[in-house]
Amino acid sequence: MGITFKGGIHPPENKHFTENKSLEKIDAPEVLYVPLSQHIGAPANPIVKKGDEVKMGQKIAEASGFISANIHSPVSGKVKSIEDIPHFLGSYSPAVVIENDGEDTPAEELEPHTDWENLPPEEFAKIAGEAGIVGMGGATFPTQVKLSPPKDKKIDTVILNGAECEPYLTADHRLMLEYPQHIIEGALMIKYALGAKRLIMAIENNKPDAIEIMRKTIGGDDIEVAELKTKYPQGAEKQLINALTGLEVPSGGLPFDVGCYVQNVGTAKAIRDAVIDGIPLVERVVTVSGLATENPGNFLVRIGTPISRLLEIVGTTTEVGKVIMGGPMMGIAQWTLQASVTKGTSGVLFFPAEQSKIGDETACILCANCVDICPARLLPTSIAHNAKYGKFNIADRLGANDCIECGSCAFICPANINLLQYIRWAKAEIKQMAKK
Ligand code: SF4
Ligand code: SF4
Repeated sequence: MGITFKGGIHPPENKHFTENKSLEKIDAPEVLYVPLSQHIGAPANPIVKKGDEVKMGQKIAEASGFISANIHSPVSGKVKSIEDIPHFLGSYSPAVVIENDGEDTPAEELEPHTDWENLPPEEFAKIAGEAGIVGMGGATFPTQVKLSPPKDKKIDTVILNGAECEPYLTADHRLMLEYPQHIIEGALMIKYALGAKRLIMAIENNKPDAIEIMRKTIGGDDIEVAELKTKYPQGAEKQLINALTGLEVPSGGLPFDVGCYVQNVGTAKAIRDAVIDGIPLVERVVTVSGLATENPGNFLVRIGTPISRLLEIVGTTTEVGKVIMGGPMMGIAQWTLQASVTKGTSGVLFFPAEQSKIGDETACILCANCVDICPARLLPTSIAHNAKYGKFNIADRLGANDCIECGSCAFICPANINLLQYIRWAKAEIKQMAKK
């Protein structure tokens, strides 16, 4: 059965294309485009200029505020320019463009700490900050800030999120199979840094091999391995906390309000790599898949690699009509192949043109499917209806801001109503009203 939350949907998983494909390290491209905005918060400030020589792992941009993150060079080479490039969120955004010299000369900026158990707990947040680590499950929240909860918020439970509930994506699955020890070490560091009592590794039960290898590697009872029911959006933070602990994060609240801390398995490994090996976050695992790809797989990709390079590597079987950065449910459709891989890119999906058509929206038939499956227990149809007619105050009262933007309601709607788009619109309008 597996542990789960109320609501949710069962979209076709389509993980079989890549779940058995081992991680493959790909060569860094000749030119990398490293965006200064790869995280939630203020973009980083560049500290290099055109013509500068850089080493792999050298800091090239500095966090510019409390919620921001450092950025490091993924290769050694020369700064070609700092210019606006297409950004995966749409529009253009500044990036450091680096010509790769192919040498990978390391910078050795971070000090390795093999004796991490002797470090003071607060040191882990600092190291994560120096290493530019952000939430790698897609949230991209700076880890330094997350590892420094307010003094009055005691963390009891750390949850390692290995749910990977988005269809097609298998990056975390492969990471758990191939780097279980690294993930566990990172998880233990988080627990130690926060002074938490309980550590749970949460994995959906469509990954029995990952559950088994984690249990074997853990050996003792320091860490619980929880088998989650395979259901979307099982990996969403609030739903995961509820499924595992029965606790409800309050409306507008954060996991620390109920003594919990959730971190993606890839982020745990990045923390371990920064602490023990002194390596900043300059590459990540990306699943490259979708029904238009010929040889989909899971790749170790340098940050700043254009997605056009990923398409060259996997090849195509047909004309590509749609490209999505992330999973098909919460990912972002791309308008150009020039956007590059960032710290939060868990997948890049390529679909044929004929599968990219969206059916015409028809009238709501009041079936209540969207209400039944909403994991945030909202009334998606009512919020969307009020947004459509400009009644944003009512959408606000109906809890639009509690929508986690999982897209389940739009997926299930037989009338093809793009409920999520209306709800996102309502959220943006509510934000504007609050500012006024
Ligand atoms: S209203 Fe929001 S949280 Fe609920 S199903 Fe739709 S997108 Fe998901
Ligand atoms: S699922 Fe679609 S048709 Fe059914 S109640 Fe919701 S909005 Fe209306």
